[in-house]
Amino acid sequence: MYAYGVTKFIREIMEAGQSLLPSSHSSSTIEQTARVVFERFSERLKKLLNGREERGLKLALEGHVKHTSQRIFSVRSENNQHAYLVDLDRKTCTCPDCQKGHICKHRIAAYLIEQSNLASNSNQSQDASPSTNGADSDNGKLDVARAILNARSQFLREAIIYARIPHGGDHLIVEVISLNGDTATVRALPIIKDGTQIVPQFPFQDGQSSASIVLASSLLDITIYR
Ligand SMILES: [Zn+2]
Repeated sequence: MYAYGVTKFIREIMEAGQSLLPSSHSSSTIEQTARVVFERFSERLKKLLNGREERGLKLALEGHVKHTSQRIFSVRSENNQHAYLVDLDRKTCTCPDCQKGHICKHRIAAYLIEQSNLASNSNQSQDASPSTNGADSDNGKLDVARAILNARSQFLREAIIYARIPHGGDHLIVEVISLNGDTATVRALPIIKDGTQIVPQFPFQDGQSSASIVLASSLLDITIYR
């Protein structure tokens, strides 16, 4: 089980790292990195981790990880009583959980910090380039939206995602409810009537429905609120 955990963990995490998404804020970069990385974990690995991925994310978000050298990180325990050393190359951590053969939350925390630093560095160099175009960033947002909506954990799914879709020769603002393959389920946002009343809109199926299935590629200006 240990051998499976280490080799498979590293392979999955390396594959996941290949499409990390850029962001301008460090804590949202960590969250986006985590979403993409965790989303690619197999069911077996998730079982093996038994919630450590989210505890690792918490450590990363709360500033427990300090880069020491190369791929070595110092990670403070949740209660700040201990500091453990994580070596990402050697896949080790000095904590008791790791000694028992588990992939500990400190390794996950250190990996998330390393990968989100890489993501924000590559984002900065992209920002400096004048050839950055809107279509790329829309595709990136779609990937993030997909990762959020399809996440297995409630914690990662907590978000409201809005987009604009072409509708009846005009555009409509919708909430994105789910994303599956090439299609998205969207719901028209309610409107405010007489300044006080919130009333639903039924723009789909001849005015019968507030929700509809549309092509994922038709979602424009995707905005994610967390
Ligand atoms: Zn550890």
